[in-house]
Amino acid sequence: MIHYTCDRCRKVIETEHETRYVVRIEVQATSQVDGFDQEGELVNLKAIEDIIDQLERDGDDEEISPEILTRREFDLCSKCYEAYLQNPLAIEPQTHLGFSNN
Ligand SMILES: [Zn+2]
Repeated sequence: MIHYTCDRCRKVIETEHETRYVVRIEVQATSQVDGFDQEGELVNLKAIEDIIDQLERDGDDEEISPEILTRREFDLCSKCYEAYLQNPLAIEPQTHLGFSNN
């Protein structure tokens, strides 16, 4: 049996009685994508054909295309999954609003 460890709290995830959550993060540099200028206008078709040609030629040997800067995968336990959903970008809490301790 394969044991997974939560990448956030380091707890072992017992997949027999616990759900393992996999978070996949992919970061793309979309400003570098060719084919559109600042106004979103299409450049001429020939240029696009060239890009498609290029992609088809490069496609087989490399799984990750050049525009993808980062691709990561994390295993999370159910507790950390809930916490992750609350704050996926790990933003520092400024103030706690909306919850009263009365
Ligand atoms: Zn965890």
